[in-house]
Amino acid sequence: MLGRVLDLLRLSEGTCVLCGSLADSEDQGFVCESCLGSIEPERVGVDKDLGPVKGYRVFGRYGGSVGEIIKLVKFKQVLPLARRLGKALSPDLRAFVKEVEPEVVTFVPVHIFRLWGRGFDQNEEMLKGAGVEFKKVLVRVKHSKPLASWKGEERRRVVAGSFRVAPSKLGEVRGKRILVFDDVVTTGATAVSVASELLSRGAKEVFFYFVSSED
Ligand SMILES: [Zn+2]
Repeated sequence: MLGRVLDLLRLSEGTCVLCGSLADSEDQGFVCESCLGSIEPERVGVDKDLGPVKGYRVFGRYGGSVGEIIKLVKFKQVLPLARRLGKALSPDLRAFVKEVEPEVVTFVPVHIFRLWGRGFDQNEEMLKGAGVEFKKVLVRVKHSKPLASWKGEERRRVVAGSFRVAPSKLGEVRGKRILVFDDVVTTGATAVSVASELLSRGAKEVFFYFVSSED
C-alpha cells in the first residue's frame, strides 16, 4: 500500500520511475529519454518447458527496467511507452525473426473487456513500435482474473482453452510457421495454450518472443 502511494507520488512529480531524474512525462510517460535509450537485451538464461513451443527468446527480466515499463503500460495505461519499448526491442526481435523466418508474426491478445478498459492492446502496440509486420489471428475467449492470482497447475487449467484462432483467420494459420509475441512469460501456461490452439488449427510450427520473464 505504502509502495503504491509512493509510486503515485513519484508519477505525479513527473520524475523518471527508473532513475528518479526529471522526465518529460508528456512525451514518454514517466520514463526519461536516457533510460529509454539505454534499454538493451538482458539475455536472461531462461529454461522453461513450453511443451509444443518449438523455440523462444526472452528480451529482459520482469524484475528489471523492462518489467517496470511493462507495468506502467499495463496498469497505468501509458500508451506511448508501449510504442517506445517496442522500438527499443526492435533490433533483438528482428534478429529472432531472421533466425526463425516465420510466415506470420502475431501476438497474444487481451480480452475485449480489458481492451475496452485499457483502450489499447499492449502487445499490439509494442509490435507497432518495433516496426515488425504482424497479423492479428488470435482472440481471447475467456476473461479471467489476472494470472498472477493463480499458481502452477491451476494456472495451466485456467488458461487452457482461453484462446481461439479467429474463424476468418484460419487460412493465415494453416501450414504456417508462426511467431507469437507476448509481454511476460511466467509459468508458460499462456504460451502452451496458444501454441496448442495454433497447432490444432494446422500451424506447422509455433515460436514465441517474450518481452520479459518473471524469473
Ligand atoms: Zn530515467
